[in-house]
Parts: sequence; structure tokens; C-alpha cells
Amino acid sequence: MRDARVGSAQRDGNRRRVVNALRVAGPSTRADLLKAGLSRSTVANVVDDLISAGLVVRVQAALEPRVNGRPPEYVGLDGGAATAAGVEIANGCVRLALCNVAQELIAFDAADVPEDSDPENTLRVVRDLIKSLSDRTGVPLERLIGVGVAVPGPVQRRTGIIGRACTLAPWIGVRSCELAEEVLGSPALVANDANLAALAETTWGAGRGYDDVAYVYTAYGIGVGLVLGGQLYSGAAGTAGEIGHTTVDEHGEICACGGRGCLNTVADPNAVTRQLQQVLSPGITIREVIELTREGDPRCRRVMADAGRQIGAALASLYNLLDPEVIIIGGYLKEAGPALLDPLRESMARCAIHAGEAISPVITGRLDDEVVAMGAAAGVLRDPLRFPLPMGDGA
Ligand SMILES: [Zn+2]
Repeated sequence: MRDARVGSAQRDGNRRRVVNALRVAGPSTRADLLKAGLSRSTVANVVDDLISAGLVVRVQAALEPRVNGRPPEYVGLDGGAATAAGVEIANGCVRLALCNVAQELIAFDAADVPEDSDPENTLRVVRDLIKSLSDRTGVPLERLIGVGVAVPGPVQRRTGIIGRACTLAPWIGVRSCELAEEVLGSPALVANDANLAALAETTWGAGRGYDDVAYVYTAYGIGVGLVLGGQLYSGAAGTAGEIGHTTVDEHGEICACGGRGCLNTVADPNAVTRQLQQVLSPGITIREVIELTREGDPRCRRVMADAGRQIGAALASLYNLLDPEVIIIGGYLKEAGPALLDPLRESMARCAIHAGEAISPVITGRLDDEVVAMGAAAGVLRDPLRFPLPMGDGA
């Protein structure tokens, strides 16, 4: 009797390891699943069990190189088993992504909110948007395992309190996780937007296959999301990677954070736009500036090159400290292309240590407006302890 119980506990544990590995990695080969620390025969048995139970399905992998003349067989979680919602709280709008446990994006949508909207009202808009997207896509809300909420500011690890550097003033000091769970009526996680965007690029985009990634998000401010050893690194107070508040000019402009001459004051999308408003038009937007840059406007190209040089010097310090395998540029400025990236790479190479090695490549992200919301959903998919599957992981 005792042996049977031990055997069943071990089997449940093995199933959980395979299910959790598939939640993080998405569809995988049986060989990939050996990384979960199980033997080849255990993986084979567990996968067969999970297929019979309907939780795991065989997946057709397109354009994969053949092994011994056959395409490798992929297995993944059944997308119908559970869904995660990811929300980006931005300035004047919220964006929502629904992703299933097979790591497929089911739907993406956005809704406007007033710019000074208090967090509770904003979350009510999110709740209604989740409901309407669930109705539209036919994904029942009972299959929702949790909601990831991305905010443009640091979130303290232990308390969930949003820090002073948040660019949406009404959210500063808010106990964000408790509030989100109360209004949304669902388990929730709240984290910084750049950090969650880094998870999106490592799950679906340019960072896939890398363990050590620095993702530079250029939106309202410049923040870096760090994935180190395959795990998101946020720091104790949630301020890790706040590279936008690195001092680049002791005598520069005052920054929203109270510092002077921060990188954000010279190189974030707002700073870039502000420098061009006088010579172009007072109402010009960052998207228009980028369009003009791509068309070759010399004023825009000059400002973009200066911003690239400043960001590159700051990234050299980050590289010296952490030595990531790859640095990914995302957010508005990635669209500026070589006008920003060439000067950025040049200044980074000039300021970084070499030690005889080639420094990390700087590439652009693959995901666009959906990157933060998808990353917030990825945060839920990757956390089986807080967001278990509705039918249990042992199936
Ligand atoms: Zn600052």
C-alpha cells in the first residue's frame, strides 16, 4: 500500500515536471524534455500518459530540419486546457493579450482610458475588456488561470507596492497585486513592463533560445528587462535595469525621478521628440519622427544618432556588469533602424571592455505593440505554483 502511494506521488511529480517544462518552453521534442531532469524512458512514459489524458498533444513543427530522414516529433500542451491574460497598463490606454498554454496568441485588443485614470477604474476597463475578448473568441473565463499586469514602473518584490519611478502617477504607492486580484476577480501578478516584454521576446521573439538576455524597452523612459540564467531578474525593489535613470550629464535637465541629466532626459522617445518639436512642428509624435528618420530627414537622423550614442554608452556599462548573450532593442526606437543602431553599436563597442572577446550582439526585437501584454501573459504561463492548471498538473 505504502509503495503504491510513493509510486503515485512520484508519477504525479514527474508529470508536473513535464507539464511545467512545456508551460515555459512551449512545444518541445522529447529530447528537449530530458532537460527537466528525467530519464529518457520516464519522459517517454509520462508523455504517453499525458497524451492519453488529453493534456498533451502532438504538434506539427513546420520547416524543422529532419533527423534520420524524419521530421522531429514535437509535443505541447493542448491549447484548450487553459488560458492566461496579459495586460499592459500604458499612458491613455490598456492593451490585452490572451494566450493559451500552448503559447499561442488567441487575441489582442486595446481600450482607451483617461490619462489620469485611477488604478481601480483602469482595472475595471481591463476586466470588461477580458470579458468582451472572452465572448468574442469563445474562450471560457473558467479556463483563465490568471492575469499578468504590466505597469510602467518598478514593483517591490515582497510587497507588490509600485515605486516612485512609475511614469503613471496615480499608480505610485499602490499595493498593485491585491488591487488587481480584487477588481479582476482572478489570481494576478503585477510586474514592470520592460521586464515582462523581455519574457515575451525570450518566449516568442528575438531572444528565443538564449538564457542571458538584456531587453531594452524604449517607451515612456528607457528600461531594461533582464533574463539571467533563463529567469527574470527584477531586483529587491524592482528597479533592476532602470538604465534610463543613469546619469549621463551632471549638469543636464532635471528628470522626473528627481535626478539630473538622466539618460531618459536626452535619449528616450519623449526627449527625441522634444528636441525636434521646434524645427519640425510642436505637435509632432515619435512615430512621425521615426517615419521622417527613415525617409532621411537630416535633423531627425542627427537627433536619433545622438540618442543612439548615449544609449550605447549606457549599455556598455550594462554589458561590463552582466555580459548578456544578446541585447535586444524594443519599443518605439527600434523602428528607427540603422540611424539609431549603428551609432549605438559604435559607442557601445568604444566604451565596453573587450577582454579579447566579441561583445554581445545588439539586435532588434521581433514583437511590436503586443510585446508587453504578451510578456505579461508569459509571466502567468511560466509560474505553475501561483497559476496551476484548472484540472491539476498531474492530469
Ligand atoms: Zn531619472
